[in-house]
Amino acid sequence: MERFDLLVKSALVPERGTVDIAIRDTKIVKIASGIEAEADYIIRADGKLALPSFANMHTHVPMSLLRGIGADLPLMDWLQKVIWPLEGEFVSPEFVRAGAQLGILEMIKSGTTLFMDMYFFEEEVGEVAREAGIRAGLGFGILDFPTKVAKTPEEYIKRAREFAQSFRGDELLFPVICPHAPYTCSPDTLRKAKELAEELDLYLHIHVAETRGEVERIKEEYGNTPVRHLESVGFLSEKVLCAHMVWLEEEEMEIVKERGVKVAHCPESNLKLASGIAPVPEYVRRGVHLCLGTDGSASNDNLDMLEELSTMAKLHKGANLDAKAMDAKTALKIATENGFSAVGIKAGRIEEGYEADLILIDTDSPHLQPLYDPVAQVVYSASSSDVDTVVCRGKVLMEKREVKTLDEERILHEAKRWGEKIRSFLDRLSSQT
Ligand SMILES: [Zn+2]
Repeated sequence: MERFDLLVKSALVPERGTVDIAIRDTKIVKIASGIEAEADYIIRADGKLALPSFANMHTHVPMSLLRGIGADLPLMDWLQKVIWPLEGEFVSPEFVRAGAQLGILEMIKSGTTLFMDMYFFEEEVGEVAREAGIRAGLGFGILDFPTKVAKTPEEYIKRAREFAQSFRGDELLFPVICPHAPYTCSPDTLRKAKELAEELDLYLHIHVAETRGEVERIKEEYGNTPVRHLESVGFLSEKVLCAHMVWLEEEEMEIVKERGVKVAHCPESNLKLASGIAPVPEYVRRGVHLCLGTDGSASNDNLDMLEELSTMAKLHKGANLDAKAMDAKTALKIATENGFSAVGIKAGRIEEGYEADLILIDTDSPHLQPLYDPVAQVVYSASSSDVDTVVCRGKVLMEKREVKTLDEERILHEAKRWGEKIRSFLDRLSSQT
């Protein structure tokens, strides 16, 4: 009798009906109804809906500990008056570890199995991700101005190099080079980051054209809009992931398409920080490689890709007065397959030969019945608490809402303890002003 590592019995797969999904090692190897085989582990889906898991292509996971602080401020005030002072006080390996645990727990519980992260002390994020069994592309943030972690651009680049080289890359984790943005990195810093990425053959991950203010600032300083500016310093290629990309001119979209740059759209963060609405239907129309990200929890305020997906699909219909501006199927592909393929991972489809990164959604609830159109109903009506089971690289990370690789109770306890420390710092700060 055939033998598999994992067998998911009786799952509803869109366009296939109720089938069994057989997984060997990290891959989906067979999809058929009534597979008679032995397996090391069997999940009885009982008609739950199987979909690919999500790829969160832009986030700052440790910022989960700053969730909810500085609500209702625009980006620059939020960064300068709230986030940077707090980070100056608290960012440490311990803070990063506790924030990563909280954020990764949240991501697994909402069906994500890959995230692209940019922060400091990313070794800690890597260790937690490895324990949790989730895929991650991790990068040490590079800036021009001094912070607690480095003083000069040279020192940041040195730290980024050390992180990338010493970081034990394995099947789940890979280092990425992360210059923060064109307005926080000089052309020289951008060039050095690019050289480093090329030397080590790594992806680059950067914030670009997030606000109109940024565009004005880059124009004033360099006489160019952000994407043209990056093009002029030789930064852009198919190994560059640009987050936000809200304010682009037509010609810049063409540059993005030509260079094969990957775009990580972050609609909820752009809405909450009043940054604007990215021209997403234009990107889709032009064939730009578009993926989806939540950004950090301090500007979203969660890492819930299902909610992000729903927001994206509705936002662009409303903004364009066109119900076809973003259909549910396209939205799901952007949130899944497009993210994985942006960093060379063959996942994001329930199909033979694809990596076994998938979720089961429990549709047995009032807001998902009757079920006529599973994909559209997940996009417009499901919530992350409907995610019942999560599989990453063939390994079960959550089953029946129970995360198997992390201690949920301890992580929540720790997050509350950090919350108390941070709250008393904020109280002291506000009593001084
Ligand atoms: Zn960001």
